[in-house]
Amino acid sequence: MSLDTPTPVRPELVEGLPCSSVEEKNRASTGSARTVKTDWTREEIAVLFDRPFLDLVFEAAAVHRAHHPRNSVQLSTLLSIKTGGCVEDCGYCSQSAHHETGLKATKLMDVRAVLQAAAQAKDNGSSRFCMGAAWRSPKERDMPAIVAMVKGVREMGLETCMTLGMLSESQAAQLAEAGLDYYNHNIDTSPENYANVITTRTFQERIDTLEHVRSAGINVCSGGIVGMGETRADRIGFLHALATMAHPDSVPINALVPVKGTVLGDMLADTPMAKIDEIEFVRTVAVARILMPLSMVRLSAGRESMSDSTQALCFLAGANSIFTGDKLLTTGNAGDDKDAALFAKLGIAAMRAEIAQAVAAE
Ligand code: SF4
Repeated sequence: MSLDTPTPVRPELVEGLPCSSVEEKNRASTGSARTVKTDWTREEIAVLFDRPFLDLVFEAAAVHRAHHPRNSVQLSTLLSIKTGGCVEDCGYCSQSAHHETGLKATKLMDVRAVLQAAAQAKDNGSSRFCMGAAWRSPKERDMPAIVAMVKGVREMGLETCMTLGMLSESQAAQLAEAGLDYYNHNIDTSPENYANVITTRTFQERIDTLEHVRSAGINVCSGGIVGMGETRADRIGFLHALATMAHPDSVPINALVPVKGTVLGDMLADTPMAKIDEIEFVRTVAVARILMPLSMVRLSAGRESMSDSTQALCFLAGANSIFTGDKLLTTGNAGDDKDAALFAKLGIAAMRAEIAQAVAAE
């Protein structure tokens, strides 16, 4: 899709809630060749970033409404199933063993405890349950428990997502066999800025894991973090990398939460660079929406320090997924009560699980 050739608007999405079942929705999209543009250039993306803000948000909102139900945001809950002690050195992360953040490392959670947390998330309206482990990659001995978690959460009727670090082809196949719906593995930033953020694994290794996940038939969730002291050119490079691969089904856009004791937290905590300008953040969301029209764009870390107005602008610009609950893996989140109040104020409803699944199936 390009800006000169607008995507046809789908009435069933624009007029209100879309078709009532996955099957119906899939039928509705059958026959229309739903191709997306994957040959974006950095120059084209720079032009989008440079557009007058209101034009950019207007365009992003039109793209969003052409492909997704309006006034509807998908809710995901994130649980840390194994916290801290990670051998990687991601400069933003409180869970890295390279950083002294006072975080206590834990062992992999018991399967039953994970399933209890998933049941609670379902009661609170979540349609997707994401489980994260602070690992470079999962060990073979951990795979049976991981597989049991995926199967158990799925049996509750929730979508499942895991983030466990790098995956081999065979591990991706095991997770696919268990029925895992999504695998999260962020590219984090632009290829050029990557080495300023992480030194213990390469950008290419990230891409390789995404390939293994995709080849196994699991939906890909991949995004990154802005506000890490990067330039706009890096934000362009970051979105360019995502928009020129097979588009991830979910694209989390995080704003750095500087954590004391981490490399980036200490470097940026007390400087104006620590918090990305909110208009620039909304621009990044809007550009992501235009580049990847079918993907779910998720507001992730950093949302708790955003004003209601900024979040509203992000929703208008095409963000249609959030994490709920008081906590992300280790950093704070807006909290269910705050989100419910914001949704009521904005007239936004939680996206039903089957609708989220149908959007993902497109
Ligand atoms: S972001 Fe993930 S891989 Fe990087 S240090 Fe944190 S837990 Fe480890």
